Amino acid sequence: MSENFIQFHRPHITEDEINEVVDTVRSGWLSMGPKVLKFEDEFKDLIRCKNAVSVNSWTAAGHLALEALGLKAGDEVIVPTMTFSATAEIACYFNAIPRFVDVEKDTLNISVKEIEKAINPKTKVIIPVHYGGQPCDMDEINQLAKLHNIKVIEDAAHALPATYKGKKVGTISDITCFSFYATKTLATGEGGMLCTEDDEIAERTKLMRMHGMNKDAWKRYTDACSWYYEVVAPGYKYNFTDIQASLGLAQLRKVDWMREERAKIAKIYDEHFMKSEYLKVITIKEDRETAWHLYPIKIEHELLTINRNQFIEELKARGVGVGVHFMPVHQHIYYKDTFNLNPKDFPVAEDAFPRLISLPLYPGLTSEEIFKVIDAVFDIFKTFKK
Ligand SMILES: *Cc1c(COP(=O)(O)O)cnc(C)c1O
Repeated sequence: MSENFIQFHRPHITEDEINEVVDTVRSGWLSMGPKVLKFEDEFKDLIRCKNAVSVNSWTAAGHLALEALGLKAGDEVIVPTMTFSATAEIACYFNAIPRFVDVEKDTLNISVKEIEKAINPKTKVIIPVHYGGQPCDMDEINQLAKLHNIKVIEDAAHALPATYKGKKVGTISDITCFSFYATKTLATGEGGMLCTEDDEIAERTKLMRMHGMNKDAWKRYTDACSWYYEVVAPGYKYNFTDIQASLGLAQLRKVDWMREERAKIAKIYDEHFMKSEYLKVITIKEDRETAWHLYPIKIEHELLTINRNQFIEELKARGVGVGVHFMPVHQHIYYKDTFNLNPKDFPVAEDAFPRLISLPLYPGLTSEEIFKVIDAVFDIFKTFKK
């Protein structure tokens, strides 16, 4: 890889992150402690939600969310097929059934119509995924859920920060889960947050993230009778750590600024790409603000002599790294075989997948790099048009 290769993602790390991490390491408190509590508090302030429970991944947050909602074997959980497999796998932890549904063509967010068709007496939970950071149709989804006595867990792995009709994602549904994985909009290497307005859910997830111990390790070492705890449930080892939280604290302070930077880049991409007949971009609906985690393009491969995979190779040859979000989960062998899924049931995702390419989108991308990406895309169109 040459030195000026544009990576698909680079985390925004400054002296601020480094100093926070050094401070934690010097303090000697490496696992869950004061910085985790501070990070949860500041996250809560940012989202303006009632409870924020940190864990070691989105997947852990989703698992604890379903546990708190009392999901049982044989229950059904509605998930979009256009997502990362974690959204579906958490249902499998319970021997519950992920019920895959198709997405909307213009946004690649879960289709409300398809949710409606999938709902049946076994449906217990809907997990809408805010694809690329754009909130789903949450009013319609929450109305449907209420009508059928179903719970809603938002997969907001891409949606920090995002708003829907003026409301911050994290305050809208029963539970919202965020990811702090290395490539996400707030990166701590690994990490996640569960937000809820429901105190009982918050208490249950706090218990279950730490072995079902009725005191957090943090409290154990500070309270008077510090050695004593009781295990009241077979919980998990899902806690966040102070080292991760120090990265999180530094990143949280600039989370809005980072969104602005991504929005500026997306605007430049839009200006160049929207008028091209060789691709389509994602539509952002007027009543919501995306976090701009991803900038996916859908190439019109019918007009080209190369397919999407070859297109990605051509981008690489021009010094541009990209991603694909996502191979629909119904195409993955485990899900396809286990749940006997038929591609015909997912026409939109089937059509979108062979077109999708996510372009670099992160603060720190220079304007030279942005134009190198744009030029590379158009050069490939020019070279390989039919
Ligand atoms: C990254 C991602 C997850 C999983 O997040 P982890 O923190 O890695 O567990 C879940 N859903 C979506 C849509 C994601 O992109």
